[in-house]
Amino acid sequence: MRVALLSGGVGGARFARGLQSVLEPGDLTVIGNVGDDVEVLGLHVSPDLDSIIYALAGLHDEERGWGRAGESWKALESAGAWGGENWFRLGDLDIGLHLVRTQALRAGEPLSAVTERLADAAGLATRIVPATDDRLRTTVVTPAGSFGFQEWFVGRGHRDEVDDVRFEGAESARAAPRVLHAIQDADAILIAPSNPYVSIHPILAVREIRDAVASRTVRCVAVSPLVGGRAVKGPADRMLSRMAGGTTSRHVAERYQALIDALVIDESDAAAEAGVATVVTRTLMTDLEAAARLAGVTLEAAR
Ligand code: GDP
Ligand code: CA
Repeated sequence: MRVALLSGGVGGARFARGLQSVLEPGDLTVIGNVGDDVEVLGLHVSPDLDSIIYALAGLHDEERGWGRAGESWKALESAGAWGGENWFRLGDLDIGLHLVRTQALRAGEPLSAVTERLADAAGLATRIVPATDDRLRTTVVTPAGSFGFQEWFVGRGHRDEVDDVRFEGAESARAAPRVLHAIQDADAILIAPSNPYVSIHPILAVREIRDAVASRTVRCVAVSPLVGGRAVKGPADRMLSRMAGGTTSRHVAERYQALIDALVIDESDAAAEAGVATVVTRTLMTDLEAAARLAGVTLEAAR
């Protein structure tokens, strides 16, 4: 069963790992968000793509939820001591990947090609593709002003409420090579339990991708990132409350209007009417086994 998964970072990576473990090798293509990408200390960082690579390769730090296991922070400490920027947490092992990516991008290699090489180097059969090779950046509009995604998320600890989300560059962005084929060739399209506003919408902001999902001939199933009306981690629940008016399954489903055939929700959210077919299960991915079980239920809903 060939699957195309739209994914953000942490929640997406956890789910992708579960999917990879139940599918045949090579049957999964993960289409990752690049709206969070940021230049730090001259390095091009793609946090969501990296979370996916690390999780699928088993290199991730399970407890922290992002970055690599066994990480150390000497390079960043040194940069800070020399007066360099150190607001964005970059570990030593992580920096190695950013060096390779940045060099390739400077030499003119597209992001999708570098990402493919990185996934190969990690020994992955799963394909990981950025939504676009073009520059697409998420901006959040808050009462305190507009901020680049990481400036708001990391720099300001995502404390400001969000009134609107914009995707700079989305209008002219083309889907990266393989993205449209992965969607059109899939037996099922899945949307990970990622933040709809800042992880999935920036992917769907690429017109060709949205159109490919909208004109699908197979089922598209999303997994809700909420458990009991609350985000497991991060600001998704606060964003839904403020911008959509609530945190029920219906509020999540409406973020994917006309794009999904079913929504997988947690048992604790089963009471409310979602306005779309729902599949009720336990959605908390406490370990690989739980993620694999959730992946299995989601695939079943997509048949
Ligand atoms: P980011 O790019 O690192 O912010 O990650 P994502 O957008 O992919 O994932 C963040 C979302 O994942 C949050 O809204 C969480 O609620 C959700 N999430 C994290 N772990 C789980 C889990 O175990 N189950 C479910 N259902 N959602 C989760
Ligand atoms: Ca992200």
